[in-house]
Amino acid sequence: MYREKSDLSGRAAFITGGGRGIGLCTAEALLEHGARVVISDRDPAVLEAGRAELAEKGWEIDAVTLDVTDSKAVARAAADANERHGGIDILIANAGIAWPDTPGESMTDEVWHKVVDVDLNGCYWSCREFGRAMLERGRGSIVTVGSMSGLISNKPQRQVHYNAAKAGVHHMTRSLAGEWAPRGVRVNSVAPTYVDTAMSRGGFTDDALMPTWMASTPMNRPARADEIASAILFLATDASSAMTGSIVTVDCGYTIW
Ligand code: NDP
Repeated sequence: MYREKSDLSGRAAFITGGGRGIGLCTAEALLEHGARVVISDRDPAVLEAGRAELAEKGWEIDAVTLDVTDSKAVARAAADANERHGGIDILIANAGIAWPDTPGESMTDEVWHKVVDVDLNGCYWSCREFGRAMLERGRGSIVTVGSMSGLISNKPQRQVHYNAAKAGVHHMTRSLAGEWAPRGVRVNSVAPTYVDTAMSRGGFTDDALMPTWMASTPMNRPARADEIASAILFLATDASSAMTGSIVTVDCGYTIW
């Protein structure tokens, strides 16, 4: 029975920002559990590299270029994917950016919008467009990728845009979960700690900063992308069938202290 609950045979999943990092690991986790997977990313080269990496491992996937900040493009991608795959059962709203860091008193409109447009608005456009089709079918599971930065204002400071956007992702997740639970659609979020990916290499791996981060981490290590993917997988499957509106920390204990 427990094995059946995590079986995704016959289900189709769509992942935003799926060309690399956490999104690509999640694609592999879903494929291993039997799902058909569509990865999307804004950069065709990143998307193709992700598709090729999965193909080398013997997986066949569908890959579509998509910038989640373009709500009309998200609507078109949702309609196409639903038609091509006979309905998308799982959405992983994962696309995100974090930089540039800027002190709160001097962040420009442009820098604020750049991060909020991808991390919060893009996540909402994705949930709205894929969620609508799920509601029509009366079933679906959405996992948003938030951050521990949505729960605490982590070090380094200077990320008011990212922290606010990820807090918004968590609360949006809970709001949609409440609205959609009676109609068969679950919405949950993961809140990862630092993970070594291209995004975090943009700033977190600063040699001077890592000891500070690790001193604040009970497990004294970063998480790996596959460890975030495992939590996303659990939330995507029926193994988590009683969960909706949950914000699952995958943070090596960072938010305990
Ligand atoms: P990566 O940069 O490796 O992957 C994110 C992907 O999202 C990239 O391929 C990126 O493409 C893509 N993307 C960015 N903007 C858009 C857009 N507008 N439309 C579509 N795709 C886009 O980072 P991670 O795998 O680390 O991040 C995945 C998620 O995890 C993000 O939401 C991030 O905030 C979250 N997270 C990551 C943590 C970490 O330490 N790595 C910690 C906590 C949360 P491009 O190259 O074009 O930018």
